[in-house]
Amino acid sequence: MVPEIIKSGDDAGNKMVVKYTYPDGVVIHGIGVPQAWDSPLGPTWCYVVEGEHLTLVDTGSNGTVQHLEEGLQYVGYPLSAVDRIVVTHGHLDHDGNCFDVVSRSGAELWAHEIWGKFLGVGRRDEENDWRQRYMDFPPSRDPEWEQRIQNHQELSQKLTLTNPVTDGTVSEDFTFYYTPGHSPDELCILHERLLFSGDHILPLITPHPSVSMSYQIFRSLMPEEYQNENRYYGLKTFITSLKRVAHLGEDITVMPAHRAYFRGKFNPIGLDRALVIADHHRSRCHDLIGLVRKETMDLSEVTRKLFSHLKLDDQLFRMAFTEVISHVELLEEMGDITLVGDQARTVQWSGTENFADFFEAD
Ligand SMILES: [Zn+2]
Repeated sequence: MVPEIIKSGDDAGNKMVVKYTYPDGVVIHGIGVPQAWDSPLGPTWCYVVEGEHLTLVDTGSNGTVQHLEEGLQYVGYPLSAVDRIVVTHGHLDHDGNCFDVVSRSGAELWAHEIWGKFLGVGRRDEENDWRQRYMDFPPSRDPEWEQRIQNHQELSQKLTLTNPVTDGTVSEDFTFYYTPGHSPDELCILHERLLFSGDHILPLITPHPSVSMSYQIFRSLMPEEYQNENRYYGLKTFITSLKRVAHLGEDITVMPAHRAYFRGKFNPIGLDRALVIADHHRSRCHDLIGLVRKETMDLSEVTRKLFSHLKLDDQLFRMAFTEVISHVELLEEMGDITLVGDQARTVQWSGTENFADFFEAD
């Protein structure tokens, strides 16, 4: 379904406001809230759902509330009219404006219960911990980015999660599905035949899987029932969540948080996109094993070879390396590879391809 453009924006959809009208009369507005920095990603799509209450799904990056406010005005509401905010997950391009919206509207905050536990926690700093274990160069130091994270953390500390949700929570016409993997607090929210997918399912691009090792770092902060075994971080978790939403039902339209519009075009997707993303990771596992089939290979070299189509500067290399780690973790867990060498940075094939069964299973 291609929406009507209420307010035009740029080629990536920044500052655009669109109106989706579905056959059963459901009307949803999307606001393309630009990032607070120059980003090739394009805006965060924040959705406005009218009904008994005015609901906003995601808020955009901290520092961009004026764009959210302007977009809402085009839909016909002041910021103060928002009754509830639904947060898809705790990344700053999604929940960064929560504090501003809550303080001006008194809106309820709905998010996964883990999001509530992580408020004000420096998620990224500590994740660098495991990265150090595998990489020789120091974590990136971008003062502007660190300032933004710091600001996000301070704003988050002032928030209270008024309405924590868990998998299966139903409120009026919203059903919440817990879909961890990209983030440990990721939610997909079903409203009528629409699924607000946050960063779980995106058109054109594949969401970054998290890394299983992060579980050890954040485990103690999670609600008690999440502290036994890791089902919240890593590629295996992500794929499991993708397969799950893929089977939610027929004729469901996905409302993604990024790339709904890009290079002058709308990119409508359905739930089959979840399986395309899963298959992308299956074939990357296949390619990774292909690299180490004949001889062992160092993790950095695996990264350069798997991403040989990209020119990897430091920042891109870090992202690619993280992606490789998430695949290595899955293959290790399946028994298909082991990490060998004195620093355990070399990938050795075990002679099996058990990962294929995992990807194929329903
Ligand atoms: Zn995200």
